[in-house]
Amino acid sequence: NSLLDIRHLTMSYDGKVNVLKDINLTFNKNEFVVVIGPSGAGKSTFIRFINLLVKPTGGEIIFDGDDLLQANTNQLKAARSNIGMIFQDYNLIERSNVLKNVLNGQLGKISAFDSIFGRFTEEDKQRAVNLLEEVGLGEHIYKRADELSGGQMQRVGICRALMQSPKLLLADEPIASLDPATSRLIMEYLFNLSNQYGVTSIVNLHQVAIAKEFATRIIGIKKGEVVFDDHPDYLTDDI
Ligand code: ADP
Ligand code: ADP
Repeated sequence: NSLLDIRHLTMSYDGKVNVLKDINLTFNKNEFVVVIGPSGAGKSTFIRFINLLVKPTGGEIIFDGDDLLQANTNQLKAARSNIGMIFQDYNLIERSNVLKNVLNGQLGKISAFDSIFGRFTEEDKQRAVNLLEEVGLGEHIYKRADELSGGQMQRVGICRALMQSPKLLLADEPIASLDPATSRLIMEYLFNLSNQYGVTSIVNLHQVAIAKEFATRIIGIKKGEVVFDDHPDYLTDDI
């Protein structure tokens, strides 16, 4: 019983070169998948497809039973609200406080109007505070996002993504802007919380050592093709 099925996915930005070529992958519940590969391999494009930030040239993306490329507006909205996204540059609202940034993770489940006017339920606030406490930010919930360090901002990013109770978590180079020690800490939070909340995660990284440490499955992409798809133990240095 798979959560996400990708079939014959092909992408060309210019109509000539295929930056992804006939990708076929199945993702199951509770996997923690790391996608690795050199710069320009197609990793970001792949992540952005699944979230439908870019539209593929061909293929199918079946998420939780719906073909997202054929889905109507309501099905798409429902699917998106089940997919959390974590970004390299955090994408926080810098002038907003930490708590509000996390509550905004529910956009799609609440109206933009309610969000703008801060109309969140007490229950939601409590959930956001609990998440922030789990990543050690309980003391900082009323700080402005731009007062935080990069590692703290990414912890907020993780909480925001989990606030919507997603089935799938997508992270595009979540530690690329952080130092090695902070990177490991962020990966620990991401891995542990994914497990705890039963979320399937797909994380793009270019640090192979960190990928091996956390992934339950590694997918290697090179020049738009899957060149490795297995348990990290089987990864050799030459992919
Ligand atoms: P990676 O994340 O592995 O570095 P990307 O998915 O960002 O790879 O890029 C794959 C290829 O697609 C690269 O050759 C890149 O230049 C190209 N590309 C990425 N985004 C765009 C875009 N918006 N328009 C045109 N080409 C793009
Ligand atoms: P990354 O490697 O993290 O994907 P890039 O520097 O490749 O970052 O891309 C940064 C932005 O530029 C992305 O939004 C990407 O879509 C866009 N981009 C990358 N390559 C191209 C390209 N050849 N033509 C147009 N846009 C591109």
